[in-house]
Amino acid sequence: MVPQRIIKGTAVAPGLAIGPVHVVRAALNSVPTWTVAEDQLGRERMRLLEAIDQADEELRRRHRLVSQQSGDKEAEIFSFHRHMLADPGLRQRAEATIRDERINAEAAVEQLIMGLMAKVSGLEGDNVRSYASDFADPWRLVLDMLMSHEREGLVGTGEKVVLAAAELTPQVATFLERERIAGIITETGGRFSHGAVLARSFGIPCVVGLPNLLSRLEQGMRVSVDGDRGSVQLKPEAADVDQFLARVERRRAREKALAVHAGLPSVTTDGQAFGVLANIESMRDFDTFDVAHTDGVGLLRTEFLYMERNQFPSEEEQYRMYRRALEQLGGRWMTLRTLDIGNDKQLPYFKMPKESNPALGWRGLRISLQWPDLMRVQLRAAMRASTHGNLRLLLPMVTSLEEIREVHRVFDDVRRQLLEQGYEVKPDIPVGIMLEVPSSVLALESLIQEVDFVSVGTNDLVQYLLAADRDNPRVARLYDPLHPGVLAALEHVARVARAAGKPASVCGEMAGDYAIALMLLGMGYHSVSVAPNFLNEIRYAVRRTSCAEAQEIAKQARQQSRCEDVRKVLAGLRERLHERQLDSNLNTLQASGGSESDFGASSKNRENA
Ligand code: PEP
Ligand code: MG
Repeated sequence: MVPQRIIKGTAVAPGLAIGPVHVVRAALNSVPTWTVAEDQLGRERMRLLEAIDQADEELRRRHRLVSQQSGDKEAEIFSFHRHMLADPGLRQRAEATIRDERINAEAAVEQLIMGLMAKVSGLEGDNVRSYASDFADPWRLVLDMLMSHEREGLVGTGEKVVLAAAELTPQVATFLERERIAGIITETGGRFSHGAVLARSFGIPCVVGLPNLLSRLEQGMRVSVDGDRGSVQLKPEAADVDQFLARVERRRAREKALAVHAGLPSVTTDGQAFGVLANIESMRDFDTFDVAHTDGVGLLRTEFLYMERNQFPSEEEQYRMYRRALEQLGGRWMTLRTLDIGNDKQLPYFKMPKESNPALGWRGLRISLQWPDLMRVQLRAAMRASTHGNLRLLLPMVTSLEEIREVHRVFDDVRRQLLEQGYEVKPDIPVGIMLEVPSSVLALESLIQEVDFVSVGTNDLVQYLLAADRDNPRVARLYDPLHPGVLAALEHVARVARAAGKPASVCGEMAGDYAIALMLLGMGYHSVSVAPNFLNEIRYAVRRTSCAEAQEIAKQARQQSRCEDVRKVLAGLRERLHERQLDSNLNTLQASGGSESDFGASSKNRENA
């Protein structure tokens, strides 16, 4: 092993992957930069020249169009732009940057543009400046050409790739179809960000917090990603690859063994049923797990259905999707969360105002209530689909009783309208609320009277309780779901829900850790809803634990006053489960051998959950 080729980071989504790297831009409007291998410099220069030709062709088209519609004078600017593009000095400068700095064409063109703009900024007078900025415009078009072909060039290669980016955002996690992504590695990104949520839900091994990653990568460089332990190896040697592939094999065997038991009911050794449901983001997620291994879908994040499109999905489109989901679940719960956009979940076709504090701003139910027409389309689609299975509706970011009442009014109105129009709607569709805002936890006694169930969204609740942004790596240390204050809030919810006779669930990421899931069971929760790749492990853990033991764990965890001590309590539980597994009749797991046969291969990392 070559130590300097191993970069340590934070494990975000478990699993092991190996493949060529593809660097993507981390956010819309940002330009990716990567190092180009010596033997790829010619190819990179060709990419630049092709993009210049395409930009020139586009300018020619625009010239033709404008001169036909408005006249030659108005079209003159495009001739000027073409002239700029043909300037041999500028072309040579871009080519030299690729060659001398060994960087990609996009980055070289960006440098050129910045150089041109820097000259402009020194000039006096608006007119001079705007004229001078025309020098840069045609090169922006070249940049557009390079960026828009980024994906096409890659898809042609056929092999699964490891996506690398500066930041883990939902755009990065959905840059390619899931089947094409082997792993994701980034320089920054919170473990509980939506990018991380997606990686986990897609079952894509992911590591973040890798210092100076991009400057150490070359496009196409082979890397191995360890999403269990949180590290990345650059250019692994043949022996490393063999070792890594052996681990992949052991991991696969362990997953297979867990799957054998996953169809059994999720019931503790002393007979307490505990629901283990799936969090999903799209219809494609149904291909990644067996619905027989779940008690249903505990969270359908419908905003991702919206985010994948370039316009709002119609009622009919949504109806078909929801109906298909309900049919696939065959009578199991399908918990549809109404549109939860805002903050880092943006729709490309719906411009949101820029906010200085978007996590505390216009998001979730707040948008739905201000734009009820948007919610009505979704509700119509969901209610029409309701006769095809067991639908529940879940409201995100609820803060007050008034909001719940307002939503009930819209629900009743939509239902009445549908019935009048001759549609069938299932009576008594349960309505629940997400508990993500501290005030709704504290006011739960009254809120719960007006809903049928509650689901704690710990990803957001933790950030609001601890005043630590879930997306900000600088405060990632403070964002600790095992903080005693968080556990107090969780226990309070379970107690109030039990007293009200309403089921309570946790659908935030922390519930994907089997030891935490057992602690929640001990606190009195009815179920958890987790990324599909954690389902089998949690069901297995539930079947090997008694309710009394889970209650004892919850009690001990609550008695601790430091996160670190809570972690020790959970580590003790993991240890016991591990020993029990070795005594058990789960010989398949033992037989799979190696350290991955441990109950919860990633338990070390999860201690950092
Ligand atoms: C949560 O906040 O815990 C949650 C499940 O919602 P999301 O992660 O989509 O914000
Ligand atoms: Mg949330």
